[in-house]
Amino acid sequence: MKYITVIGLEIHAELLTETKVFCGCKNSFGGTVNGSCCPVCTGMPGTLPVLNRKAVELAIAAGLSFGSGITQRTLWDRKNYFYPDLAKAYQISQLYAPVCVGGGLDVGGRFIRLTRIHLEEDAGKLVHARGETVIDYNRAGVPLIEIVSEPDMRSSDEAAAFVEKVRRTLVYAGVSDGKMEQGSLRVDANISIMPENASEYGTRTEIKNLNSFKFIKKAIDFEVERQAEVLNAGERVIQETRRYDEISGETFSMRSKEDAHDYRYFPDPDILPLIIKDGDIERISATLTEPPSKRYARYTEYGLSGVDAEVILENKIIADFFDECVKSGANPQTAANCVKGELMRCFNAAENKDALPISVSDFVKALALAEKSEISGNGLKTAIKYMFQEGKPIDDVVKEHNLTVNEDLSVITAAIAKVLAENPKAVEQYKNGDTKVLSFFMGQCARALKGTALAQTVQAELKKALDKN
Ligand SMILES: [Zn+2]
Repeated sequence: MKYITVIGLEIHAELLTETKVFCGCKNSFGGTVNGSCCPVCTGMPGTLPVLNRKAVELAIAAGLSFGSGITQRTLWDRKNYFYPDLAKAYQISQLYAPVCVGGGLDVGGRFIRLTRIHLEEDAGKLVHARGETVIDYNRAGVPLIEIVSEPDMRSSDEAAAFVEKVRRTLVYAGVSDGKMEQGSLRVDANISIMPENASEYGTRTEIKNLNSFKFIKKAIDFEVERQAEVLNAGERVIQETRRYDEISGETFSMRSKEDAHDYRYFPDPDILPLIIKDGDIERISATLTEPPSKRYARYTEYGLSGVDAEVILENKIIADFFDECVKSGANPQTAANCVKGELMRCFNAAENKDALPISVSDFVKALALAEKSEISGNGLKTAIKYMFQEGKPIDDVVKEHNLTVNEDLSVITAAIAKVLAENPKAVEQYKNGDTKVLSFFMGQCARALKGTALAQTVQAELKKALDKN
């Protein structure tokens, strides 16, 4: 039988605040085990939470970025359960009046709706080592938003694309660093399947804590397959929580799925309802930068291909740099070519991924030099590489590495003659009609001339020399 896959996601994102959500402890990844804890976040009796204003502002910023409605009287609820990483035996969360409601995102032409976004505190972390388990409470009380989608996704690819769009939107809005590898973004996937002609969703299972795009896809694909086998065997899918095993690539039952009433939610008596005023929303809205979806539209208006736009948008630092270049008068396509080419090559190889060591004005000046043929296309690449590596301005780099175009024909023809003499086989190939070797010769000549000649001049001279040969 053919089935339709139905996926809804819950995305947990840690917020980029200086301190935790209900106490003054530092919110940072890593650091000494239990070095960032106090009586509040370790659940000592008699302590009281104090709400972090910034966490609420970031949750509102997230909602505004997804077009959600903001709840202006939002409440706090206790979600009660026991686990060693939750010292209070309850998590402060929002069940009845989440801070954001509705909204959504376009993914490949389909609108995926959000149900809600609520604010809550993270739990600590169990660390299993040397046959024992220890607890690190540094993460306890770190502010989280949980973004809950409607069951609108129909494939693992669509689910992964949705997570990437959500991640990118949060990073652009400064809400979260979106680092899945550090656990800043974690995904629970609710999955069910139903026969093609059915009108009701099937029974769903929930896979907890997926922390990479690869695992999101693999876990969903495995679970869809497993549920199909269960149904095809005439059995029923059991509503339960499952865990994905990264090594075997399979999902395993953890526990029967709990409902809200299992957690005995009740309003937290320690925190007052929070009133969010129109002025607060307007102020936060004014601080938001242009979201990636709008930038994408703008880039395609510049004439960039969708692929180029995506490559640039993948990293906000790169996209911001590109935008500044265009603002400074660079031709968008020319700037895009160099940004996604040599600049990204250098950036990907660099250790520091928090900033670019090149100034926009130097980069734009380098593009202009190439446009005026004062440096060659290869010279431009070389200049970007050295500016990046040495952190020097373009004028110094051009001078120190002799990148100025030198159209001395005798130098060019001498270099060409040398390259041809060194590669008799390739010359033979060319004579036999294999014109593909031209690009090989161009590369060799560019290297010999160290990028100081313009490609069109070299090509013309190269053809002349080959045809004479
Ligand atoms: Zn604390």
